[in-house]
Amino acid sequence: MQWGVYIHIPFCRQKCFYCDFPSYAGQENLMEAYVEALCQQVRIQGLSYRQRWGRPATIYMGGGTPTALPRPLMARLLTVVGEIFGEGFDEFTVECNPGTVDADFFQVLRGGGVNRLSFGVQSFQDELLQRIGRIHSKDEAIVAVEGAQKAGFSNISVDLMYGLPGQRLSDLQASVVQVQALAVPHISIYGLQVEAGTVFGKLSEQGRLVLPTEEESEAMYDYMTTKLPQLGYERYEVSNFARRGWASRHNQSYWQDVPYLGLGAAAHSYLAGKRYAAVASIGDYIAGIEENGEVWSLEEEPTLEHAMEEFAFLALRTTTGLSRRVFAQKFQRNLDAVYGKVMAELAQKGLLQVDDEGCRLTEKGFKYGNLAFTEFILD
Ligand code: SF4
Repeated sequence: MQWGVYIHIPFCRQKCFYCDFPSYAGQENLMEAYVEALCQQVRIQGLSYRQRWGRPATIYMGGGTPTALPRPLMARLLTVVGEIFGEGFDEFTVECNPGTVDADFFQVLRGGGVNRLSFGVQSFQDELLQRIGRIHSKDEAIVAVEGAQKAGFSNISVDLMYGLPGQRLSDLQASVVQVQALAVPHISIYGLQVEAGTVFGKLSEQGRLVLPTEEESEAMYDYMTTKLPQLGYERYEVSNFARRGWASRHNQSYWQDVPYLGLGAAAHSYLAGKRYAAVASIGDYIAGIEENGEVWSLEEEPTLEHAMEEFAFLALRTTTGLSRRVFAQKFQRNLDAVYGKVMAELAQKGLLQVDDEGCRLTEKGFKYGNLAFTEFILD
């Protein structure tokens, strides 16, 4: 049985100005108790799924900033993960903040079976990094990625952002030159989203956030989506580009309807067609594990319509797209009977390519993804 594990580490040194992820700064005093609770959840819940389904194919440790944990705590957590889930996973990724890693930390990760690192770099311009609240500099990012390579990691991803305040196309071009020089096999790109409750959200409400114009942001998007394939990074999902053979297996499993177990505060799980979410507060999570281990709640029970919509949304994020065969297998429904009209209309607008296999977004469809996704909502 193919399945994956997601482990959430909700600590960050400082909250980035755009970030609304479940992550907290200034709670270092809870790290030890949190890792203890997490190890407990791995030993009980993790073991129960391991016994049922065998070894997971992939593990992804994200956050937050996993590498904000002190080395001994990370080592302890990796030891328990190894004891319960085994070793030799197809992929075991840890998200890294370049401001929190060094050679010793990489050794701990390698010793714990980690074989892929994802660096949140976002930009290689110091001015931009400061403006978005990152804790690291351009040089620290370069040293971190090179340090990981020296430590023996070859499967490395770098995140870049576009549409940042004060960012010019030339900044992005310089960042791409830098990533290329680092020769990493995977790049993720994200356009800035201004979310309520973040520093940028507040500045925006006050009319004090100056962003690139829509045309400038669009030019940055166009540059990335054209330049990266020219450099040998094929797009395999809305935000993800990789050299052939280096696509993230864990991420792909999310879009392919593979079940996953989420461990830690705010972690989501997808098990037997149902979605669960753990309590987001670190304190509530620790208390819940200590009391009775119950930290999950069932998110809305999906109707058949919701399950089909969600399946379509996730599949359409990928360049492989939505398969007629897989859809029919999963829902015992013909894709055309459910989405035939929508597919024909979107194909007419040049947003969707439809053939015997199924359908997938065109380049234009990826660019205006929301237009297409909205149409896949069933009445
Ligand atoms: S390091 Fe990542 S998770 Fe932490 S605040 Fe910044 S963007 Fe959010």
